Amino acid sequence: MQLNCCKSWGCKNFGKPVSVDYEPISYHLGYPALHCKSCGSYPPLVDNALVTALVKKFTPTQLPTWANRCPNCQGLNIQRSGKTAAGNQRFRCRDCAKVFTPAKPPADSMLKLLMQQLTAGKSATETIKALNWSSKYYYQLLHWCAVILTGFSRLLEMRYLPTNLLALQSESHVLCLPSGLRIWLITSAESLSGYQLLTTHNIAAKGTEGGTYLGEVDNRLDTFADLPLTDALKRRYQQLMNRYHFEDLQYGETIRWPNAPLIQPAPVAYAHFQLLRLAYANKEHIHHYLEQDSCIRSAAIMGVVDEIAQQQAEIFYLFAHPDRQTAFLADGRPVGWWKDRWFSTPFGGYCPVTERAQYRYPFQMRDIHTNQHYFNYLSAHLNPKVKQLAPFNDHLQITQSCYNFIHKDNEAAPASYLNMPSFATSEALLQAAYNAYIETRSY
Ligand SMILES: [Zn+2]
Ligand SMILES: [Zn+2]
Repeated sequence: MQLNCCKSWGCKNFGKPVSVDYEPISYHLGYPALHCKSCGSYPPLVDNALVTALVKKFTPTQLPTWANRCPNCQGLNIQRSGKTAAGNQRFRCRDCAKVFTPAKPPADSMLKLLMQQLTAGKSATETIKALNWSSKYYYQLLHWCAVILTGFSRLLEMRYLPTNLLALQSESHVLCLPSGLRIWLITSAESLSGYQLLTTHNIAAKGTEGGTYLGEVDNRLDTFADLPLTDALKRRYQQLMNRYHFEDLQYGETIRWPNAPLIQPAPVAYAHFQLLRLAYANKEHIHHYLEQDSCIRSAAIMGVVDEIAQQQAEIFYLFAHPDRQTAFLADGRPVGWWKDRWFSTPFGGYCPVTERAQYRYPFQMRDIHTNQHYFNYLSAHLNPKVKQLAPFNDHLQITQSCYNFIHKDNEAAPASYLNMPSFATSEALLQAAYNAYIETRSY
């Protein structure tokens, strides 16, 4: 993976991994950067090895092994390949030749029992005591719920997500647990439905090397809601320039779990868009609608860098702002050091990051605040007592599935806007996912 290249839109080296114009390491601006002599830009160096390690670590939870997906290359080109001695169906990947047997899940009645406990907000200790389970059995069931629900989501996404144009709305958030642990995460929703596709956080496994988050300052961009839109944008660009380098996003102090380092937001953002690439690359056209931040912009570019070159992907900043007075000219207004061209809209402003054609109003989205609704849901429903990485990942995947698929009394579930099935209870959701798992396992 080579994430170091010129990221200035319009430069002849944009997205190119190799160029005679590159000076591989420059400290000219005080931080380690690649220098592109063609456009004069100094994109901060990205730790390729760290991002690769993060992607590898997140893949099993985000793209779990079902019979329809290769555990080795994540490909979907799968065929049957005989049976095991125990009579279970074996599968073979036509792309990389990996042979695998999807594991046999526990009884659905046990998994549904656990879903009931989770929905009722019961902690691990309470559930283990109430049902007389061992701790090991509880965590096995928890992991199975996550694997089955996430795999079910990916299966439905293959069937129901639009194939001509996939528009993704991405935003970061700081999730505060009662223990004082503050987690930075980034999420991407399908923009017409608000359906949450992928959430990536900055808790890493023990032994992860490099990129440790030390957490001293909070240099996230302010909204400046009292200022006119143009002035708010100018102040935000000034905030970016005040950072150590413009991709050095920090979110203040936090406590940590022992044995689980926190990683800086920038490499996590790069990993997030590489995971999106693994999961959703087979689309004719991709739009990214991003929160305005330099590290998220660069990470998104690298997730669709080939598609941009082939005119199959475009990237935009969105900025929700209350100013309804500022009317920009029809061709927008350049703002900030990079002279990004911003347009005003009913929700605030937008800026084409990769500008090819004149977009009048390119967005089709349900709600500019769609990711905020999800963050509120996470705060209310994610089990706050978790203190280990593996169960945290499981809880996050389960909570995301419940958000996407379970409808409330008078509110449709995001999945229903994509014509996917939706459910009244978490047990009904689990049962449908379980049936799908058994079906693909023996097809
Ligand atoms: Zn350049
Ligand atoms: Zn494979």
